[in-house]
Parts: sequence; C-alpha cells; structure tokens
Amino acid sequence: MEIVPLLAAVTQSIDIGKRALAARDSAKVAEVQARLNTQAIELTEKIIQLQQEKAALVDAKRAAEADAMAHKETVTELTKRMSDLGSYEPFHTPLGGFCLAQQPDAGGTPAPVYLCANCAARGQKTFLQFQEGTQFLNCTEGHGRIPGMAVPDNRRMQFEFFSSGG
Ligand SMILES: [Zn+2]
Repeated sequence: MEIVPLLAAVTQSIDIGKRALAARDSAKVAEVQARLNTQAIELTEKIIQLQQEKAALVDAKRAAEADAMAHKETVTELTKRMSDLGSYEPFHTPLGGFCLAQQPDAGGTPAPVYLCANCAARGQKTFLQFQEGTQFLNCTEGHGRIPGMAVPDNRRMQFEFFSSGG
C-alpha cells in the first residue's frame, strides 16, 4: 500500500478504536489493536523503502551534478580552443596543401603562421613547421607532411635548400 492510503487506513483504525473504547467493546478494541500493529509494521517498511529511494536519488543527483560540471569544463576548454583558432582561416598552399593560416591583423602580418587543419578539426592547435630540407610543412601530431610553398625571397636565407633546387 502506498503511504497516503496507508495513513488514511491508520486514521480510520484509530477512529474505530476510539468508538470501541467509548462503547467498552473489548473484542473490538483488541481487533483494532492487532490491525494497528500490522499497519505500524507496514508504515515502518514503507519509511525504510522511502529512505532507500531518497538515498538513491541523492546519489543520482550527485552523479548528475558531477557530469554537468565535467561537461561545463569541457565546453569551456573547447570554447577557449575554438576562440584561439578563430584568428586562423582555411588556406590552400601554392603546392596544393591545405592548412589554416593566420589572418593578417590590423598591422599586417609579414610571415603568416600555419596550423594543421586536421588537428584544428578536433580543436587542437598545432603549428606547422617547414620540414628541414624540404618544402613540406610538417604536423608533429602525426598528420604528416603538407605540401607547402615557395619560400619568399626575404626568408630564403633561412631555407637554403631552395636555392640549390632552383
Ligand atoms: Zn595535425
């Protein structure tokens, strides 16, 4: 029996018991006492069950709060990463590679910085460096070599290997 009908039944038993006492009906009084004992046991069981359900709900709530906190931290972290990536735009290199290139700021960026597009797709910021001795941009996170571009004259000193190749 649920708690509300059970309490109603107890109230009814008490009323019947009061009338039996007033009428000095000892048989009826004994019957009501037995019924009240049974109802008291039922009430105790019901209270224990409700306490167990409450404890389970408290545990579930705590777990849900921990989950929500973890999700919030993930969103904050991803938002920060996406915001970091916001100043880069898709860029096709002259040699057919694809990466992200830093957008020029108000002052103009003389030598753009390049990011790996595959890393950026999963919210990771990986700077692409020219692989020494080649014209490839290299992702250190395992996305390999990306065909780069001819090196501008003002940086040719830094990439001497281009002068021998023509
Ligand atoms: Zn990468």
